[in-house]
Amino acid sequence: MELSKYDTIVIGGGVSGLACALLRARKGDRVAVVEKSSRLSPTLCGFARGGTHMDLGLHYASSMGQGGLLSSLLDELGVLEALEAEICVLDVFDRVRFLEPAFEFSFLQGWGALRESLCEAFPDDCRGLQSFLGEVRALWERCRIAFLRDRGRSLGAFFTSEGRTLQQAIDHYTSNPVLGGLLSAHGILYGTNSRETSLTFHSQIMGSYYESACVIRGGGKAWVKAFEAALRDSGAELICGCGAKSIELDNQGRFAAVELSTGERLAANRCISTIHPKLLLAMVPSNGFSAAYKRRIREFEETLSAVVLFGRCASADFSGNLILAGAPNPDKNWPQLPIEERPLFVTSSMGASNQGVSVICPAGLTDVPRWDCRADGGRPDGYQDWKMEVAERLVRRLSTHAGDLLGGFELLDIATPLTFRDWLSSPEGGLYGIKHRLVDLPLLPRTRVEGLYLSGQAVVAPGVLGALCASFLTDSFVV
Ligand SMILES: Cc1cc2nc3c(=O)[nH]c(=O)nc-3n(C[C@H](O)[C@H](O)[C@H](O)COP(=O)(O)OP(=O)(O)OC[C@H]3O[C@@H](n4cnc5c(N)ncnc54)[C@H](O)[C@@H]3O)c2cc1C
Repeated sequence: MELSKYDTIVIGGGVSGLACALLRARKGDRVAVVEKSSRLSPTLCGFARGGTHMDLGLHYASSMGQGGLLSSLLDELGVLEALEAEICVLDVFDRVRFLEPAFEFSFLQGWGALRESLCEAFPDDCRGLQSFLGEVRALWERCRIAFLRDRGRSLGAFFTSEGRTLQQAIDHYTSNPVLGGLLSAHGILYGTNSRETSLTFHSQIMGSYYESACVIRGGGKAWVKAFEAALRDSGAELICGCGAKSIELDNQGRFAAVELSTGERLAANRCISTIHPKLLLAMVPSNGFSAAYKRRIREFEETLSAVVLFGRCASADFSGNLILAGAPNPDKNWPQLPIEERPLFVTSSMGASNQGVSVICPAGLTDVPRWDCRADGGRPDGYQDWKMEVAERLVRRLSTHAGDLLGGFELLDIATPLTFRDWLSSPEGGLYGIKHRLVDLPLLPRTRVEGLYLSGQAVVAPGVLGALCASFLTDSFVV
């Protein structure tokens, strides 16, 4: 019998992979993390342009206060202390601006403050608003408390939906389109619209922000640094710059080893995959998963992708986030609208000096059909011109409709759905992996292949909190 070199191999060194590795290493496992990028968590680390750091996958976080779910999980992982000095609470976490009709609202953190400010802005809808917020809070609290109490055994709280879409719940409480648009505007943060997402899922994400929102000074880089230090202390091996290519099973169909792109073979007792589930399908031998399971994974829809402008704004006062939308139009399939009519999410990397501003405009691979032919990152002629044209249109929108806040925008770089497909290893460039729609059966951490587990944003929810919860959940399944 072959002697395993590792107890656990974690595929993917993002938020979830790093947390899974730490949880296993703290339990005494010999752990290796395999990350295909040359550095850990490319999603979180961001990049620099013209001396300005651009955050990518962590602009703000939630539930970080006293008794918060995120702070408790980070504490349990032993990384809270390293991050605590970097945390800066946000009183206003999002500003929403509609143009037609003109309306602006600032989302305050804290249930009481949010309820009061909403009721002040929509006095005729105050009762409905209170009931809606009450439902969101109850669904979020049920999940937070159950997870704090018994981690993985709180599956029910995460995966039981009470059967309504977010839009059905909103329509039940208000017929005011502006209020409806406001309550569903945050779908842009998880890439699914209000007619597809369940009220439960929305509450699990947005309830955590309504409870408390913060930025981490130093952004995603600070997060990764804290995890990397903890992992090195725990003796985990971090292998960057070569991806997992295939998964080997033994003659009884159990997980046996991971073959890397270098040809090296890592044998282990178990493997936790945190990559996009559709990519995993191609790595597992055809007899590993049942046909029905493969079909289910193939049928998951991708969250929205985007054209993102990275740059600097002239105003030193702009901080925080702005959702800018022509009209409150929750029903629309954003990538089907002209660029000028899609909502924009403008986010500054708050808290640190010389930080950039990102402008996220929902888009899909359908926006770039002529260039969707090369997966190696190279692009044919014409692509640059197309990118510049889209960027100019978006910058014009910013200057017309958010010039008072930004004071001008200096463009430093542009990413498109093709960039995200390659950068985030997301088959269709989705920013947040697969959609978690009301109609989808959730993915559980255990697979039919003994010793092969799933984790990451596909399992619980996107966001650093969702990805971290998935790691704890997966860890509780490991036998
Ligand atoms: C533009 C943007 C803004 C965001 N803003 C926020 C925010 O403000 N707050 C928030 O909470 N969340 C935010 N998110 C979401 C958050 O960043 C993600 O949900 C989270 O990082 C997902 O972590 P993960 O570990 O599940 O997945 P990933 O980060 O995707 O990790 C998977 C890793 O696997 C690697 N990989 C892929 N294939 C292989 C292979 N074959 N072998 C080895 N490694 C492989 C990838 O390189 C990747 O590093 C944002 C995301 C984006 C894209």
